[in-house]
Amino acid sequence: MKKRKKTKIIKIGGIAIGGNNAIAIQSMLKTPLLQYKKVLREVFQLKKAGCEILRVAFKRKEEENALKSLLSDSPLPVEVDIHFDHRLALKAIDLGAPAIRINPGNIRDKKALKTIVKKAKENGSIIRVGANVGCLPSITEGIKRTEALITLISNTVSYLESLEFYNIILSAKSDSVVETYFVNMELSKRFAYPLHIGVTATGFGENAIIKSALGIGALLLQGIGDTIRVSLTASSLKEVKVAKTILSSLGLRQFEAEIISCPMCGRAEVDVNKLVRELKSALKNLSPKIKATTRIAIMGCEVNGPGEARFADFGIAGGKAKVAVFSSGRIVKIVEEKDAIKELIQLISEHYALV
Ligand code: SF4
Repeated sequence: MKKRKKTKIIKIGGIAIGGNNAIAIQSMLKTPLLQYKKVLREVFQLKKAGCEILRVAFKRKEEENALKSLLSDSPLPVEVDIHFDHRLALKAIDLGAPAIRINPGNIRDKKALKTIVKKAKENGSIIRVGANVGCLPSITEGIKRTEALITLISNTVSYLESLEFYNIILSAKSDSVVETYFVNMELSKRFAYPLHIGVTATGFGENAIIKSALGIGALLLQGIGDTIRVSLTASSLKEVKVAKTILSSLGLRQFEAEIISCPMCGRAEVDVNKLVRELKSALKNLSPKIKATTRIAIMGCEVNGPGEARFADFGIAGGKAKVAVFSSGRIVKIVEEKDAIKELIQLISEHYALV
């Protein structure tokens, strides 16, 4: 993995983005602002799930009171998402939004941008210049989408800088993993502002998760990206869960004990799938008390099991009729398969003195 690109540090509420700060997880509220009770429920669920920055769409003036309440009730810093109407950006800042996202593809008028910058300066708000392929202006037709995105963002940043405004975060998203990768690589070369990264409109199910993991993961491996949002046609909680998995898979952040399980083959002596599900359920209560760096292995056989998982802290490996429970590659006990998870949890609990 390449060394993290040094970017400017920008603070949204209590969350610092850029520099060496942890890569922050964002999600976007899926509930419309006017359904305020439901909004609050989603916000608190997101907070519990590990979301660190909340984005909310502010679409029209009628939502003003709900936005005002959210800005005061939200336990997470709020970034207000604005398209088309620059007056909504002004209103959001007036209401106290610590950050707004404007889309330079549909707020292009310089006079409008100037008024937003003036207001943001007065209130110390951050502007994320967030472009995506869906909103490229028509004048870019015929130009490659990656170039169009880079040009659009670069021109907007130049204009903001000409107004001596530097409280900026950048993002450029495409529904193509490859375009997202190349645009962000180029933006990272050109600018030292923090980058919010993600692949947009990924779709549904496994395909969407794989596209997000590839696009975001490839950039993170290059040391690029200060905050991430996984966009899924699914609940916002699922977005946060996938974002956490991407970051922990790359060793960039650790949230809970890692389960390493073998893919099973003809040598498997136990039902690995069933044992993993049992372990996950057993860990639910224990997880907050176990170090996030703990690695627990579930291996189908003893032939390769403890060996393949010797770097795990704890584990089990299937054997003929019995199961080996091991710790740091050393077999500690031989037990019945039906008791394997109970024994494993006992071993982990003893280690962390939870019994
Ligand atoms: Fe196959 Fe055993 Fe390796 Fe699992 S641990 S994949 S069962 S050889």
